[in-house]
Amino acid sequence: MKIIAADVIVTSPDRNFVTLKVTTDDGLTGLGDATLNGRELAVVSYLRDHVAPLLIGSDAHRIEDTWQLLYRSAYWRRGPVTMAAVAAVDVALWDIKAKAAGMPLYQLLGGASRSGLLSYGHASGKTLDELFDSIREHLELGYRAVRVQTGVPGLKSIYGIASNATFEANSGVRYDHEPAQRGARPAEEDWDTRSYLRHVPGVFEAVRNEFGPELPLLHDGHHRMTPIQAARLAKSLEPYDLFWLEDVTPAENQEALRLVRQHSTTPLAIGEIFNTVWDYQTVIREQLIDYVRSAVTHTGGITHLRKVLDHAAQYQIKSGMHGPTDISPVGMAAAMHLGLSIHNFGIQEYMQHGARTNEVFRQSFTFSGGMLHPGDAPGLGVELDVDEGGKYPYERAYLPYNRLADGTVHDW
Ligand SMILES: [Mg+2]
Repeated sequence: MKIIAADVIVTSPDRNFVTLKVTTDDGLTGLGDATLNGRELAVVSYLRDHVAPLLIGSDAHRIEDTWQLLYRSAYWRRGPVTMAAVAAVDVALWDIKAKAAGMPLYQLLGGASRSGLLSYGHASGKTLDELFDSIREHLELGYRAVRVQTGVPGLKSIYGIASNATFEANSGVRYDHEPAQRGARPAEEDWDTRSYLRHVPGVFEAVRNEFGPELPLLHDGHHRMTPIQAARLAKSLEPYDLFWLEDVTPAENQEALRLVRQHSTTPLAIGEIFNTVWDYQTVIREQLIDYVRSAVTHTGGITHLRKVLDHAAQYQIKSGMHGPTDISPVGMAAAMHLGLSIHNFGIQEYMQHGARTNEVFRQSFTFSGGMLHPGDAPGLGVELDVDEGGKYPYERAYLPYNRLADGTVHDW
C-alpha cells in the first residue's frame, strides 16, 4: 500500500488547525493533527517542504519504520515543530492501517481497557460567583471532573480566565478559555506570584464548601512558580484534595519537582510542552509526577506517546493527555483511541470545539455522562470536509505573554 499524496490543510473555523491528509494508491486516506498553537505555519512548512516528499512512494503500513526515519534522518531532532510534524504522519498512518483493517483504531492498539474515558472541562471565573456558575454549567453538561481557575485581585487578565477581548476576538464563539487571540501582536497579561499564592487556597476552600468533597478538582499553575513557591502552593492546597496540580514550575527544570515532592502529597501533572520520552526521563524514573500531560499531537504521535506511557506505567504514573481546543478533533480522536486501549489511563482533558469546527471535522466520538468514547467507525473516526474547511483561511493568532508590575517578562 503505497503513499501517493501527503497534503497539508490549514483551516481556521474557530481557530487555526493544521491537518495532514495522507492518501494511498488503493484510495484510503488518513488524517493527522499538526496544530502548534501560535506557530502553526512553521509545522506547515516542515511537513509540506521537507516531510511530504519523503513519504511519496513509501509503504503506508510501515508505521514504526516511518517514525524512525523521520525522527533520525532529520539529525536536528526533537522540539515542538519536528515532533508535531512527525505526530501528524504517525497518526495519519494509524488511521489508514485501522481503516484497512476495518476496525476502530483502539482495536489495533490492543482493544478497549475500559468502557469510556473520564474527562475534565475548564471552569473559570473572575470572581467566586462567576466560578461557581461555570462549575455548575460544567456539571449540567455532564462533566464529572473540573479544572478550576480564577481571577486574582489586583491582576487585570491572567491565564485560564476567558477575557472579554478574547471572547470578541473569537467572534463570540463560546470557549471556556481560548487564550490564542487573532491579531498582529500577542496580548500582554499581568502577573504577581505572591498575590496568586495568597488567593488560591481560599478559592479551593470555597469551592469545596459549595460543591462538597467528592468532585475531582484540578488546577494549572502554568509554569509560573519558582521551586520553593511551587512547594508552598502544593502544600497549601493539600486540604482540598486536588486530583492534580499541573505545571507548577517551568517544564525545562525537571529537578525542581524534587523540592515540591519533599513538601507535599498533592498529585502533580506535567508535560504538555514536553515532546519526547527523553524529556520525561528524570520525572518518571524519580517518580516526581503522577500524570503525563503530553498530547499525541505534540509528542510524535501514538507510536511515541505510547512508549512514554508504557515507561510511566512501571511507576504507576497515569495519562492525563492535553486536550484544549488547539488539539483538533483529529488529535482528540487519536488521544481517545490511545486512552481507551492503555492500562494506565488517568483522565482526559476535554474542552469542547465550536460549531464551525464541528462542521469542518465530522466526528464519531461521543461525550456522555462525563465520559468520552472514540466511537466504532473504522480508523480514527474523523473526516475533514475540505470544502467546508476552505471557507476559513488561516488567521494569524498568538498566545499571550506575561509582564510583572515592573515590566519584567515572566512565564505565561
Ligand atoms: Mg496546562
